[in-house]
Amino acid sequence: RQELICALCGEPIVPKSPGDRPYTGDLGTAYEGQPICDTCYDEDTCEPSATIYYGKDNEEISLIGSCRNETEGDFRVKWHSTDPWRGYYECESDEYVEVFTDAILSGHESEEMLKKLYDRVLERFDEENINFARVFCRSSNVFMTSLEIWVKKDFVQLLKAHAIIAEAKGEVDYDNPLYSTGILFPRENLEKFKKLLGKKYEITTDKDLADLAAEKGDGLLAELVEASKGVK
Ligand SMILES: [Zn+2]
Repeated sequence: RQELICALCGEPIVPKSPGDRPYTGDLGTAYEGQPICDTCYDEDTCEPSATIYYGKDNEEISLIGSCRNETEGDFRVKWHSTDPWRGYYECESDEYVEVFTDAILSGHESEEMLKKLYDRVLERFDEENINFARVFCRSSNVFMTSLEIWVKKDFVQLLKAHAIIAEAKGEVDYDNPLYSTGILFPRENLEKFKKLLGKKYEITTDKDLADLAAEKGDGLLAELVEASKGVK
C-alpha cells in the first residue's frame, strides 16, 4: 500500500480509519489537488496570505492560506519578494476586477482621509447594489496595510463603480498633495527640489520625484548640484 505524504510538511498521512481520504489543497492555491495532512490543513489559515470580505459587512470572512482557499477560487494569491526577507502577497482573480487600491500608512496625514474615502465608497456601492469584495493582502511591512476594492467583472457595475469612486475622491479631497507627499521624501527636500528644478520638471507628489529619479539615474543629482550653484 502506497503511503501518502503531506505536500506541505512532508510527513506521512496516517488515515484514522480505513478508507479515510486526506484533505487536498483547495482550488487556486499553490498546493491545489495535492494531499495535505489534518494538522497542516487546520492550521493553514492561522496566518492567512489574504483576507477577503464580500460586500460591506465584516461578518463573513474568507481566508486564503497556502493550501486553503475559502473564496472557492474567486481569488488566488501570488507572493512577490522584494528581497530575500521581504515581500508581499498580491491577489489575482478571473471573476473580479480591482477598481481601487491604496496603502494605509499609519501615522501619515492620508490615513484619516483614506478611511473616510473607503467608508464612503463601501456605503455607495452597497446602495447601488454593486457586487464587490474587499481584499487585504499580507505584507512584511507592518506599518502598511494594502486596501483593495474589487468589483465583479460586469461592464455596467464597473462603470458605476468608477463613477462612485471619482465622486468620493472629490468629497475627501483625495488629490490634495498633502496626501501624496511626506511618504518617500521629507517634505522640505521636495520643496527645495521644486524651487531648484521646478521649472524644468513638473513635480507635485513624492511618486513624481521617485519616477524622475528612476528615469534620470545619477544625472538628476548632478543637475541638482548644478542648479544649487546658481542659487548661491
Ligand atoms: Zn502536513
